[in-house]
Amino acid sequence: MNREDHIKKLKTESFDVLIIGGGATGSGTALDAATRGLKVALVERDDFSAGTSSRSTKLIHGGVRYLEQAVKKFDRSQFNLVRDALKERAVLINIAPHLAKPIPLVTPLYNWLEVPYYMTGLKLYDGLAGKANLRASRFVDAKEALERFPMLKPEGLRGGVIYYDGQFDDARMNVSIALTAAQQGATLANHVQVTALYKKEGEVAGASLEDTLTGETWDISAKVIVNATGPFSDAIRHLDDPEAKPMLSASSGAHIILDNRFSPPETGLLIPETEDGRVLFLLPWLGHTLVGTTDNPANIEENPRATEDEIAYILRHVHKYFSIPVAREDVKAAWSGLRPLVSDPDAADTAKLSRDHVINTSASGLITIAGGKWTTYRKMALDTVDEIERVGKFAHNTSLTEHLKLIGARQFIPQGAGKLQEEFGLEPDTASYLHRAYGDQAVKVAELIKQGYAERLATNHAYVSAEVIYAARHEFARTSIDILARRTRLAFLDAEATLKAVPVVASLLAQELGWSPEEKTKDIARAETYFN
Ligand SMILES: Cc1cc2nc3c(=O)[nH]c(=O)nc-3n(C[C@H](O)[C@H](O)[C@H](O)COP(=O)(O)OP(=O)(O)OC[C@H]3O[C@@H](n4cnc5c(N)ncnc54)[C@H](O)[C@@H]3O)c2cc1C
Repeated sequence: MNREDHIKKLKTESFDVLIIGGGATGSGTALDAATRGLKVALVERDDFSAGTSSRSTKLIHGGVRYLEQAVKKFDRSQFNLVRDALKERAVLINIAPHLAKPIPLVTPLYNWLEVPYYMTGLKLYDGLAGKANLRASRFVDAKEALERFPMLKPEGLRGGVIYYDGQFDDARMNVSIALTAAQQGATLANHVQVTALYKKEGEVAGASLEDTLTGETWDISAKVIVNATGPFSDAIRHLDDPEAKPMLSASSGAHIILDNRFSPPETGLLIPETEDGRVLFLLPWLGHTLVGTTDNPANIEENPRATEDEIAYILRHVHKYFSIPVAREDVKAAWSGLRPLVSDPDAADTAKLSRDHVINTSASGLITIAGGKWTTYRKMALDTVDEIERVGKFAHNTSLTEHLKLIGARQFIPQGAGKLQEEFGLEPDTASYLHRAYGDQAVKVAELIKQGYAERLATNHAYVSAEVIYAARHEFARTSIDILARRTRLAFLDAEATLKAVPVVASLLAQELGWSPEEKTKDIARAETYFN
């Protein structure tokens, strides 16, 4: 079934649950609910993962920083949060091994006194992970730290601590979760927004929807409605109750992309103390170097952008720790995401902002799930579906998502890239990229390459035109932005190459989806505004 088939069902059927928002949280909730036998609908205003979920640091982590706070404040609930996230880290790597993998991270230490502090902390991190630990943390001397991360400034380096976390492709993971939900029976559509909620006998019972690509509108009914709109949670809560107390504030987190000279292929760096007392990560990602993030109060908007101040801040820290020069011209792309900081409006202490998730059910039964982090999306979904069962008076069923492999993972063999290369005569970089991005579905993309969709979307990048066709047919992609930002990740890696690729992608989509010349021009204009 493609997007239009799903839309037909959204127009004609009624549902047990309607989920608003197709980020990690909404898509995860759709998947969990579908595996528990509920009849699920999900609508996403923009594209799956268009919000915060494609703009993360791409780490699957318990949060070493949160652990530090837990120790300093001796806060048991923070310890539990870290422990739960470490368990989820292992689950995510197991259910989507093509998109997620362990990554060693070096913390450079320039002062001997720091060594016992960081070693103790990271051993505690390993201990909290228990059986789910990826590999043991260890101290390395200055020589090994430099072998692992040769770009570090050697002067005064005493050594480093290496620990392990997970790393992933967030947008592709999000799309895989949504597609797996569809496979489990959920009905979903991107580019469909909720514009109003309606009630029956005081209970939310449905919503008005608008297809943002065609302008069509219709109503949908559902026994339970879930608000999983991340930074936009309060806007949906106000549709339910214009007097609802806000539960959310946002801070922006910017990242920059440098080329692969700035990181070794398999090791990341944790800069332990920034100017404003936080940590900064520098990670190899998709053949480039990702550095971030910042933390500044922000307005809630749909496409937040990294500011020049944020970019300068990140570059200053790279410069401080690196022996090779880095300049503004080295920045190939920069993006920003909104971190929703939530407080439960019904809790006594509303001033306390939490990085944990909050589930709030309004007097009319609207369930809002907000906060948390990517790593814990599955746990958040599980808690939300428990609440859906309670509010909708559905029988309780056990969640099946802990061991449910996502699309692409079922027949995935880690060493499969070679076979793909041989069988389809692919270039090595394309084979290994497709293998990781699509897992066992890569053969379907390779077949399209064989049929002639072999053109590269950008020089020096592995992305090929076959992916545009595959994404339009099988992954709900309907705009050039969907393709360039979230099915491939070109927009997150290389801003200049992305702008050049827009007309190429639009032509392929126009042909595949039967667009008129006006529709194609509109798509190009929209993409150019978005990426400029
Ligand atoms: C800078 C930064 C770095 C981060 N790094 C990490 C990390 O490394 N690891 C980690 O575990 N976590 C990380 N996080 C946290 C993680 O990214 C978020 O917790 C997660 O992505 C939130 O997902 P969500 O689905 O709740 O929200 P979102 O992804 O924002 O999804 C909400 C969706 O709702 C849609 N929507 C809004 N209004 C409507 C409407 N009216 N109708 C239909 N749809 C609507 C939006 O278009 C959006 O797609 C990071 C966060 C930030 C900001």
